[in-house]
Amino acid sequence: MSQNDHWMQRDLDVLWHPCTQMKDHERLPLIPIRRGKGVWLEDFDGKRYLDAVSSWWVNVFGHANPRINARIREQLDSLEHVMLAGFSHEPVVELSERLVRLTPAGLNRVFYADNGSSGIEVALKMSFHYWLNSGAPAKKRFVTLTNSYHGETVAAMSVGDVSLFTDTYRALLLDTLKVPTPDCYLRPEGVSWEAHSRSMFAHMEQTLAEHHHEVAAVIVEPLIQGAGGMRMYHPVYLELLRDACNRYGVHLIVDEIAVGFGRTGTMFACEQANITPDFMVLSKALTGGYLPMAAVLTTDDVYAAFYDDYATLRAFLHSHTYTGNPLACAAALATLDIFEQDNVIEANKALATRMASATAHLAEHPHVAEIRQTGMALAIEMVQDKASKTAYPWQERRGLRVYQHALQRGALLRPLGSVVYFLPPYVITPEEIDFLAEVASEGIDIATRESVSVAVDNRFPDHRDPG
Ligand SMILES: *Cc1c(COP(=O)(O)O)cnc(C)c1O
Repeated sequence: MSQNDHWMQRDLDVLWHPCTQMKDHERLPLIPIRRGKGVWLEDFDGKRYLDAVSSWWVNVFGHANPRINARIREQLDSLEHVMLAGFSHEPVVELSERLVRLTPAGLNRVFYADNGSSGIEVALKMSFHYWLNSGAPAKKRFVTLTNSYHGETVAAMSVGDVSLFTDTYRALLLDTLKVPTPDCYLRPEGVSWEAHSRSMFAHMEQTLAEHHHEVAAVIVEPLIQGAGGMRMYHPVYLELLRDACNRYGVHLIVDEIAVGFGRTGTMFACEQANITPDFMVLSKALTGGYLPMAAVLTTDDVYAAFYDDYATLRAFLHSHTYTGNPLACAAALATLDIFEQDNVIEANKALATRMASATAHLAEHPHVAEIRQTGMALAIEMVQDKASKTAYPWQERRGLRVYQHALQRGALLRPLGSVVYFLPPYVITPEEIDFLAEVASEGIDIATRESVSVAVDNRFPDHRDPG
């Protein structure tokens, strides 16, 4: 028995994997990873895989990065953890100071949670509670875009709209207001991204005009709807949204969990619209992909609405046990150092250009409807019919064929339904980008050439894989 098989067997005897129909593993081998180095992962039989999706969008400077490793080791010798209520420590103070400096002007307070979904819960609760403390208890609903994703906990699911993840739990969800997405894949032919995003704003304007008295906040993924298939829109939408939220007295929550830290070409996506949200939620790449942590940044105005004598019961009595974990803070500080020292945002421009040129030929492919890109995220939309943009039936799991082919060739490409995408660590080389493009092209050829007889009775397991 190979080493891989050995670990796979032991795993499958006791584990239940995230977002997985476990029965799929009767035919899809699980891949036990022994170690990682840079953009490469290595399994127990010595096969290597280029991590083109940054291990679920978290890793920005490679696996086993020497600088991040050293900082965590150093922290480990002084303090591994202390509760953050009533106590504090050096890395959490330093990190908070730096996040306040780095993020758009006006975000002066940092509250921590220990994963992205929890960070979203914090922002939603804080916004609701702000209005309650401000004498506006009617403002308790949230406005969200169709095709959005904000996490897995119940309130975070409520503000999401990828039916594969939320339909099952409908009975548990909050009642939210859904506004049609500015997603530019859906724009009419000949219309620019900017014009489309601008015209789609009319729906938001109308919803806010009708409902602002009962709305606490609008929540969006800025520029890229990640789990919804790497669908993208123009920054003008965020500008219009900031303005409308001001006019209607509604908070703006910006979920930068997936796109923060350089993914869209700027440090934060908000910068491209030159706006300051009332809440910005960060996670994923915050710790360089090392440790789970989320940060919720907010304004002095929000903070002030909670600041009072204890007996008024206006405090935000919310906590996650591992809030502000020192090891996670140390990983985040090392990550921010690398951004600064290596001038990463600037250096990424050449990589983004290479991603575009290496995949450009796919635009001619008979089953590729669109190649879209925002900074260091590039997506290729496979379709059954190019002219009408008719999607493949989800049951055919075409993306899964690309995934399987890529594994064989030594790449971890994990399509979202029929959307093949690159979201690589920033330490990838131009040659490695070319390799990924080659593997993706082959995979797309194979996946679209075959006529699939649908014998599959389960959806592809990945929740970040809506059919
Ligand atoms: C991943 C993600 C989340 C949820 O973060 P978790 O750490 O998985 O809970 C929320 N919003 C967006 C945009 C994400 O991509």
